Amino acid sequence: MTTTISAFDELRDHLTKTATLGEVNGLVSWDQETKMPQAGGDARAEQLALLAGLMHERRTSDELGALISACEEDGELTSDDEAAADLREVRRDYDLATKLPADLVTELARVGSQSQQAWKEARTRKDFGLFRPHLEELLVLVRRKAECYGDAGDGELYDHLLDEYEPGATSAGIEAIFDPLRQRLAGLIAEVAERGTPPDEAPLDVVIPAARQHEFGLFVLEALGFDLDAGRLDTTTHPFCQGVAAGDTRLTTRYDEDRFTDALYGTMHEGGHGIYEQGLPKARFHGLPVSEATSLGMHESQSRLWENLVGRSRAFWVWALPHAQRIFNGALDGYGPEDLYRAVNTAKPSFIRVEADESTYNLHVMLRFEIERAMIRGDLSAADVPGAWNDKVREYLGLEVTDDAQGCLQDVHWSFGLFGYFSTYCLGNLYASQLWEAAERDLGEFAPTVERGEFADLRGWLNEHVHAHGRRLRAAEICERATGAPLSADPMMRHLEGKIRPIYGI
Ligand code: ZN
Repeated sequence: MTTTISAFDELRDHLTKTATLGEVNGLVSWDQETKMPQAGGDARAEQLALLAGLMHERRTSDELGALISACEEDGELTSDDEAAADLREVRRDYDLATKLPADLVTELARVGSQSQQAWKEARTRKDFGLFRPHLEELLVLVRRKAECYGDAGDGELYDHLLDEYEPGATSAGIEAIFDPLRQRLAGLIAEVAERGTPPDEAPLDVVIPAARQHEFGLFVLEALGFDLDAGRLDTTTHPFCQGVAAGDTRLTTRYDEDRFTDALYGTMHEGGHGIYEQGLPKARFHGLPVSEATSLGMHESQSRLWENLVGRSRAFWVWALPHAQRIFNGALDGYGPEDLYRAVNTAKPSFIRVEADESTYNLHVMLRFEIERAMIRGDLSAADVPGAWNDKVREYLGLEVTDDAQGCLQDVHWSFGLFGYFSTYCLGNLYASQLWEAAERDLGEFAPTVERGEFADLRGWLNEHVHAHGRRLRAAEICERATGAPLSADPMMRHLEGKIRPIYGI
């Protein structure tokens, strides 16, 4: 029927234009984080607020609502699985967006942008007090936002924030995975501390100039299959990946000349996000949900898989070390792959989440999940965050936080107004290990190919089983179809225990 075909065309046209506006917004945000002079902050806040307002207008317009309804009445479209999944997601976006008043969206963008500037200053000066009033203001707005989503489920207010990043997830469901996992991780960490012999970290102390690190990072990215003709790598305070548009995926990293592996693994991590972004069918389905990632947890699984399951394997260093030695002008000469493999797999509690090892990392995530859930519930005020943070770091990691920059000011998320986000990092680790086990069942062990620097089979498997679905499948469905089982902590614990115990001689 020609009328309904044109309704879908019109819907697609509307979505494509909104997506393009989103790309402009992404580019302007990327610039704010990487290139913008500090004095541009106020003007940038206005620019972002205007864009957010325009996007919100388009995402909530009556015209869009009418187009969605027209498509939903078309039996031909709804009986097609793929079109029906796209429509389901478009409907979800519309329903979520129409629950937020325009003034709240604009206000969140404005306050978020100012608060990021304040966070930067506070972090530099190690003074939470500079950030606290902004956090208070954000909490009021974010709670209002959650209340607008109020009937999206029967769970607590926090669940409505969580659902934005990890559709279908609930705080009770996450708690059910996190609680036993915390005990198993604590057991492994205690075992390592009491009976383990720590590996020699000397290879990581070799000083490598930032420019050489950058070159090596690009070399590794290219080998993994991140397309540098359709992407770039820049420097910023807090590393991230911005999938700006089809053919334009931007990664950032930061360099510490005294610890080259920070940037290497940061780059591989963001590279994993970037490979997912590049694997999404963005050019073909521009504007449609299938061109977007299914959830942040699944996104994180892609970054952690390349960073940890590939990058922290023995096979990776068999391949990568000779190249690192060449690019670093011989600075790593005298070390073998086994030395690097052991050194990058220490299991030692530390302050900074993004620099934490694989075993303790999840504990960093759990304490953030607990703190932000308490803030949204109203059980914890902004002023009490540093104290609560430091208590949990003492309890879970056995460390004394001495300044807020290595404590509650280390992450950018809350300054953006992102609450409900952190748990997706841990879900990502769990998905990564489960997907990896399934991919090895399908294709055989990856170690021999990784040793040769061949990553195409793994990338192809991920593309077929994860990337190509976009948002047509939820993360939980992607996991079940690709691995044959619902999400479980067992594969990650098998991976961690199987690696850490032999390295520590347990
Ligand atoms: Zn990530």
